[in-house]
Amino acid sequence: MLEVKNLSHAYAEAATKVLENIDLKVDSGELVSIVGPSGCGKSTLLRTIAGLIRPTSGQIRLGGTLVQDVPDNLAVVFQDYSRSLLPWMSVRDNVAFPLRGRGMDRKARRAAAEEALDAVGLSYAARKYPWQLSGGMQQRVAIARAIAYRPALLLMDEPFGSVDAQTREELEDLVLSVRANQEMTILLVTHDIDESVYVGDRVVVLGRHPGRVIGDVAVALPGNHDQITTRELPEFVHLRAEIGRLVRQAAEANPAA
Ligand code: ADP
Repeated sequence: MLEVKNLSHAYAEAATKVLENIDLKVDSGELVSIVGPSGCGKSTLLRTIAGLIRPTSGQIRLGGTLVQDVPDNLAVVFQDYSRSLLPWMSVRDNVAFPLRGRGMDRKARRAAAEEALDAVGLSYAARKYPWQLSGGMQQRVAIARAIAYRPALLLMDEPFGSVDAQTREELEDLVLSVRANQEMTILLVTHDIDESVYVGDRVVVLGRHPGRVIGDVAVALPGNHDQITTRELPEFVHLRAEIGRLVRQAAEANPAA
């Protein structure tokens, strides 16, 4: 469903490449975590896939179509929820807003928004404004907006980086439940190794200077995920160590400038 082929990128003003020869394939319905040390180009990779940055070279195909602009079957959830929601619109209107581009009438947009808010447990807050909600709730609204849109591909860039640890766990479980109930492919960038293993079907590890794929690890954890029992499984502990080692090697080989 997503194919990144031989992708390299250098920002115009920089002498060195941020990303080099990235190859990545993601199947329909997969949830792939991308981890790597800070500055390795995770966000840059996500932005090129979102069509927000045109890579220096290489190709990105989404459902077989070359990405040259922002694809309309894609949604992005960023870390900074406070800047992604429109403060003058109610929660429901924020969720319904992008659906205008889907050719849905007002009634259908409202129904889709309410369904998505229900899926994230926020039906009761539909008439509130974003600034009346906690950070974790605002990020739930951003997730509801993304799922109401029913994108083929959902990109998440450090989506839980600005909330407290407890809320972070709740949002991780929310993403897993959304994924279980809807046909959606998800690419999630995180610097948190435990999170990458907990939510991912696969963890792609990037090295830095330049950013490149240094590991692609399948995650097959038994049973339904639970924040306490899953994290104490021997398989989980082993995967976390394996990925942690890769990330540490990448960081030590190329310390941040
Ligand atoms: P990560 O998300 O892994 O922390 P980024 O993709 O944000 O990494 O950044 C990778 C590198 O590219 C960093 O060295 C960063 O300073 C640089 N960079 C990011 N955005 C820009 C930009 N708009 N212009 C120039 N350099 C950038």
